[in-house]
Amino acid sequence: MAKAIVLIMDGVGDLPTPKTPLQAAKKPNLDKLARDGITGLLSPVGRGVVPGSDTSHLRIFGYEPKICYPGRGPLEALGLGMALKEGDVAFRANFATIKDGIVIDRRAGRIDTASATAISGLVSMKIEDVDVIFKNSVEHRGALVLRGPGLSHCVSETDPHAEAAVHQCQPLEAGPAAEKTARIVNKFTQDVQKRLSDASENKTREKKGLPQANAVLLRGAGSFSSVPSFEERFGLRAACIAGGALYRGVARFIGMDIFLVPGATGDKDTNLFAKGKAALKALETHDLVFVHVKACDSFGHDGDFKGKTKMIERIDKELMPLLIKSGACIVATGDHSTPCCRKEHSGHEVPILMYGPEERSDDVNNFDEISCMAGGIGHITGKHVMPMVLNLMGKGKKYGS
Ligand code: ZN
Ligand code: ZN
Repeated sequence: MAKAIVLIMDGVGDLPTPKTPLQAAKKPNLDKLARDGITGLLSPVGRGVVPGSDTSHLRIFGYEPKICYPGRGPLEALGLGMALKEGDVAFRANFATIKDGIVIDRRAGRIDTASATAISGLVSMKIEDVDVIFKNSVEHRGALVLRGPGLSHCVSETDPHAEAAVHQCQPLEAGPAAEKTARIVNKFTQDVQKRLSDASENKTREKKGLPQANAVLLRGAGSFSSVPSFEERFGLRAACIAGGALYRGVARFIGMDIFLVPGATGDKDTNLFAKGKAALKALETHDLVFVHVKACDSFGHDGDFKGKTKMIERIDKELMPLLIKSGACIVATGDHSTPCCRKEHSGHEVPILMYGPEERSDDVNNFDEISCMAGGIGHITGKHVMPMVLNLMGKGKKYGS
């Protein structure tokens, strides 16, 4: 049976100034796949809609975010490997420094991961009948899960996003669940500050002149509720290779297996060769492998046209030869555009290519936003991708008799 690799280059789409990074980059491998395969333009979430990365990935993999999007908190928690249960409320969390009640550093001086791990045990606690469970990831970041009866994700965040007092958590809907959740969050905010202020790690940091990690700020609340797995939906065993926690979280949410790759950082220095090797390994046991590369989006947010162009060239040189060597069908696209001139996501379509031994070819010879306008796939939205992937693999099910 044909297998498939779906490569998502985060935020790869751009606007011409006068060229786009995809047009400016030397990328013979992606161009060859465009020449030998079929191309088009993809609006992941809907025509003109500005996608978030999480909603876009869900839609590309066949899940309607309007129905099943759990919010950022649960996806981050899943991405950190935390096990979630129905009804858990999860937040993105980060260590911060407060002085006289004011947040003076939202990232606690980008505390090193080892120090954050040393104090992370103090953040988990029990309040009333609710377990508060914390896990830190890289530097100041982490996720916090509330587990107990009668909770709601409809509460405000405590992160002030500025030099200001930690916000009080407020219920955002009527009823006892949101009130209880807000009460638990506010008690947590108080108790964690006390515990962290007394921590020996923070006393050491103070002596060294480093900002203390003496508060935890919460945002992105969401309730976890499970969805039918990717395998149940499409009959494909799928694996995910991604450096960023959010993408691993989306993949775990829909039941993909996670392959952890040393050196896959989700950052600009990520080891693409290692990711390619891992993709080949994953293909031995899985039908579909999702490979995610984050950095194109990061360069777009920085407005760094040269950096984004170089990153595309690195993907073409370090990752694509391995993916092509696999003999699998290849789908390459982005989850949205992040134009360097806007430094933010935009609703412009992203190019998509589909290549397989039996696939039709069109007259497009280059993989970029402008060339793919003329491609045989035409204009599609996220909901079209999985049926087309199944058809590309020869796994489409007949509709009717
Ligand atoms: Zn994205
Ligand atoms: Zn982004």
